[in-house]
Amino acid sequence: MNFEVSDKMKTIIGMIGEFIDKELIPMEQDFLSKPLKSLIPAIERKRALVKQMELWAPNHPKEYGGMGLDLVEHALVSEALGRSPLGHYVFGCQAPDAGNIEILNMFGTKEQKGKYLRPLVEGKIRSCFSMTEVDMPGSNPVMLETTAVKEGNDYVINGQKWYSSSADGADFAIVMAVTNPEAPPYLRASMIIVPTNTPGFNLVRNISVMGHAGEGYFSHAEILYQSCRVPQTNLLGTEGHGFVIAQERLGPGRIHHCMRWIGICNRVFDLMCSRAVQREISAGKTLATKQIIQSWIAESAAEIQSARLMVLHAAWMIEKVGASAARKEISLIKFMAAGVMQKVIDRALQVHGGLGMTDDTIISFFYRHERAARIYDGADEVHKISVAKRILKEYEGKKIK
Ligand SMILES: Cc1cc2nc3c(=O)[nH]c(=O)nc-3n(C[C@H](O)[C@H](O)[C@H](O)COP(=O)(O)OP(=O)(O)OC[C@H]3O[C@@H](n4cnc5c(N)ncnc54)[C@H](O)[C@@H]3O)c2cc1C
Repeated sequence: MNFEVSDKMKTIIGMIGEFIDKELIPMEQDFLSKPLKSLIPAIERKRALVKQMELWAPNHPKEYGGMGLDLVEHALVSEALGRSPLGHYVFGCQAPDAGNIEILNMFGTKEQKGKYLRPLVEGKIRSCFSMTEVDMPGSNPVMLETTAVKEGNDYVINGQKWYSSSADGADFAIVMAVTNPEAPPYLRASMIIVPTNTPGFNLVRNISVMGHAGEGYFSHAEILYQSCRVPQTNLLGTEGHGFVIAQERLGPGRIHHCMRWIGICNRVFDLMCSRAVQREISAGKTLATKQIIQSWIAESAAEIQSARLMVLHAAWMIEKVGASAARKEISLIKFMAAGVMQKVIDRALQVHGGLGMTDDTIISFFYRHERAARIYDGADEVHKISVAKRILKEYEGKKIK
């Protein structure tokens, strides 16, 4: 077992850490208090700097202008970037584009790669992933109502989606729609590329989430597809293989998210410890002298460390045996890391008292936004059920003494 980080990765992580501290953290107060639109020019300047430093699109293929890091390497990058909510976007490896890039690279035709993949990796356009529906359970995605019916050379799409993250300002959506209603459930749906300027692609609203509708990249849209017509050449991969492709998208995506959450844990842990040693709670006594605070700090340190090692191990498993064989590890980290992050953010907020509730620190932003981690990419309960079934299967027919 080798826990060593290569010299190359130490250098990259060091450069990213410095960039986050010097360039992004100072922007956060504006990010929390001003409309995103007013920050776009500054964000674009930071993206240009990242490109100059040759740290752009760390996880994406070299032939399209990325750094081509492997999954374990990118996991370390994702952790470093997670310290700021702007990190992944400024370095060109943000969800949902990252997942869309992966599947376009794996399943896209030459034309699709030229038209959508290349500008996406270059950061010239954005995209969204449009699967979840208002009236259907996202936890059982085979229950889709959105249809794509063939007419002439086209697909005509009808349906109502929501939580299509970052649709506002995106150039295209990858839409999951039923194309083969008579097939077995997991072979009914396909992924179809829909440019957002197609007539019938109607962005109804950015949904207000925890008090904020957000805008642009930082938003989640409800979309009505009304006789939305795209050429059949916009099909991604094989017809009916939408869920097969979705599986490919989710494995590495969960590593990216989980390590981003570890980065968030690191950031709020630093804030919590720093506040504890500074805040005097009685004459000459800081919060750090109180055992209950010490206990939160020790528990947080242990939980962050264990979740981090689990995620890195899952990334290593995916590299070694593939996402399908690593399904148990992927499910374990998804609910483990999300739960640890929620606890650590909550403790950090509590240590800050009233200040923790304000937007004067980044903690309340993380508290609001990252609650969703226990829901998207598979709710905790769904992953727990899946892991438990896998484990219990190993005991069937065995007598343990
Ligand atoms: C911030 C955010 C961003 C998102 N981004 C996207 C995106 O970009 N594109 C996209 O398509 N979707 C996105 N989603 C949607 C997300 O994937 C779904 O919300 C998720 O799959 C859960 O589906 P649901 O909301 O329909 O909940 P439901 O399926 O209705 O489940 C509700 C709750 O029931 C419980 N539950 C579900 N199944 C079981 C079970 N078998 N046993 C026990 N309990 C169960 C869980 O606690 C779950 O939270 C996003 C969601 C959020 C919150």
